[in-house]
Amino acid sequence: METTTQDISFVKKIQTVFDAQKQYQHIIKQTSVEDRVAKLKKFREVVLKYKVEAAKALYADFQRPYAETYALEVSTLLNHIDYTVNNLADWLKKEPVEPAYPAVIPFTAEIIHEPKGVVFIVGPWNVPFFLTLYPLISSIAAGNTSIIKPSELTPHHSALLKKMIAECFDEQEVTVIEGGVTETTELLKLPFNHIYFTGSPKVAKVVMRAAAENLASVTLELGGKAPAIIHESADLDKTVFRIIKGKALNAGQICMDVDYVLIPESLKAEFIQKADVYLKNAYYAKGDFNYEDYDQIINEANYNRLKRLFDDAVATGANVEVGGVFEEKLRKIQPTVLTNVSTNAAIMKEEIFGPLLPILTYSTKEEAIKIIRQIDKPLGLYVFSNDSEFTDYIIRHTTSGGTTVNDVMLHAFDPAIPMGGVNNSGIGKGYGKYGFLELTNARAIVYQSPEVPNDEFFKPPYEGKAEIILEGLK
Ligand code: NAD
Repeated sequence: METTTQDISFVKKIQTVFDAQKQYQHIIKQTSVEDRVAKLKKFREVVLKYKVEAAKALYADFQRPYAETYALEVSTLLNHIDYTVNNLADWLKKEPVEPAYPAVIPFTAEIIHEPKGVVFIVGPWNVPFFLTLYPLISSIAAGNTSIIKPSELTPHHSALLKKMIAECFDEQEVTVIEGGVTETTELLKLPFNHIYFTGSPKVAKVVMRAAAENLASVTLELGGKAPAIIHESADLDKTVFRIIKGKALNAGQICMDVDYVLIPESLKAEFIQKADVYLKNAYYAKGDFNYEDYDQIINEANYNRLKRLFDDAVATGANVEVGGVFEEKLRKIQPTVLTNVSTNAAIMKEEIFGPLLPILTYSTKEEAIKIIRQIDKPLGLYVFSNDSEFTDYIIRHTTSGGTTVNDVMLHAFDPAIPMGGVNNSGIGKGYGKYGFLELTNARAIVYQSPEVPNDEFFKPPYEGKAEIILEGLK
């Protein structure tokens, strides 16, 4: 590929910012709890100042209703800031450690949590305000400097973030660099100390390869196919309401949204009927489907991807029970429930990340587990059940980043709960103390005791010493 003058100036620009942050890191590392809390509070003010602009930006980017932005993004972010402000002094305390064998090795020790250095935060487009900024909260708390690259698919949001951050921080401390694949590829060449990436497993592999070049540590917040397993004992009204409401939110473009449902055959018809009633009540109150209160699919490529998954499912035998309406001009897809979906259909192989919901049936819990295990470990797993034995069985026989029982995605918003996946759905955990630990180095400081019983053990000659040790080994 030909290198343009623009490319060269971009490379120079990011190198300059990176070098400045690397230098400034040594200063920021010395900041006290009070300094960091003050920064977080200042940032909180800026978030509040721009809350309406954030909602406007995301409406411009994919017609996200304001109410969803305030609830999913602004309010959640403020909660995370407040939680960190309230707990940071505790997290930053030196942790004294008792030696495991004081009679042999009688040192005193403590663990300090020091910043990792320069952090690169790469954000997604689907809940971009919160998901790009919550890692920044952890990064500030940890005492790092940060370069943020928001998603290019939400350009209004990305421009707003740049403005907000510039208003609150010097470039040497936190900065936003906008761009797409080319710019991110250049940025990934820089020797960051940590990369905090939120996005797809496919791009995460690119990120991890780049991180390997510099042995940078990574947090990868990814996605996957989250199952919802419904038991006969579940309250079906609440179950359907919560699953379908979750699926319609953000038009299903949420990393840990229910991807497919596993239900006993005997409950299938009732599930479909209740889903239909819920959607009619929620979206047809004024006659036609209320597209005003419903998000767009982010871009044409994703709209076409979802259409392909839908067409392929139908071509391989799926029945469209609810929805199935694709409005190409609006780039909107109504919440859609599919049954009789083949496990070989593309919709059961790829993460859906949209408002399509396959309903699969199972006859025994073992069969449900078998289906779940055929798919990569998910970010979320949901059990709808009032039978604790069944719930425990499902939890014990599966794995996922997190699990909510009798609701969806509840484990994904509280700063006290670790957020993250496992293998294909992610590496590392964020939020609250977990995010702080992710972006700090737990450094052990050991102070040797003045009196060490066996100080001279390793001083030759070794004659007779091996026997002493062997004697002690049991
Ligand atoms: P994506 O992986 O396409 O993009 C994420 C970021 O990576 C963007 O900033 C983008 O510019 C950059 N990028 C894209 N291609 C790149 C490349 N080849 N090289 C370098 N950088 C590149 O993901 P997305 O479409 O923004 O988001 C959807 C995915 O993210 C889904 O898989 C979803 O499950 C996942 N997700 C996970 C979480 C979570 O918290 N675990 C949250 C939201 C989304």
